[in-house]
Amino acid sequence: MIREILIWPSPVLARKCEEVSIRPEYSSAPPFHEDIHRLLNDMVETMIANGGAGLAAPQVGFNLRLVTLMVEAPLADSEKAEAGRARTKFVPVKLVNPRIVERKGSQLVREGCLSMPGYFEMVRRSTYVRVVAKNEMGADIEIGGDGKLAQALQHELEHLDGVCFIDHLSILKKNLARQKFVKAKAKGLRYRADKPDAQDFTEIAPVA
Ligand SMILES: [Zn+2]
Repeated sequence: MIREILIWPSPVLARKCEEVSIRPEYSSAPPFHEDIHRLLNDMVETMIANGGAGLAAPQVGFNLRLVTLMVEAPLADSEKAEAGRARTKFVPVKLVNPRIVERKGSQLVREGCLSMPGYFEMVRRSTYVRVVAKNEMGADIEIGGDGKLAQALQHELEHLDGVCFIDHLSILKKNLARQKFVKAKAKGLRYRADKPDAQDFTEIAPVA
């Protein structure tokens, strides 16, 4: 199910999220409560439907430490014929209770957020991060990299601590954005997936 994405500022986006508990005995049952599995599937669907590189649970209204991401992966030999010149594809990855265990370097990158449609700014991020998490099978996994993957991991994991990328910007920029978004929300405007780069709130569709 595609869920509605909360638009900043929202109190849900500003809260620290809770760890998701794993069932002590999950050999015969799914490792997490079934609602968690359902929410993770919905997050993947919502992220893909909105063309996002990542999504954190608070963005769809849940203060839980869950993140989904699109990660570049090599194509299998059987997929190469159909893919033409492409050698990689983007696959959704689900992370439960992720945390950054290593970071290196510094990069200035242009960033946006599905909760702040049409808003883009430069922010400073680590060049490389390594993250440990549980996957949906309850197993320990590690994911890391540089460039866009590092950026997406830092962005999404910050959401779990109630931080949005705009919190890295000046008070002035934050206040201006707040005015714009509060006004836009009051008019019933929200994100439109077919205009992800809309710079003007008039291009953002009214809530259905
Ligand atoms: Zn975001």
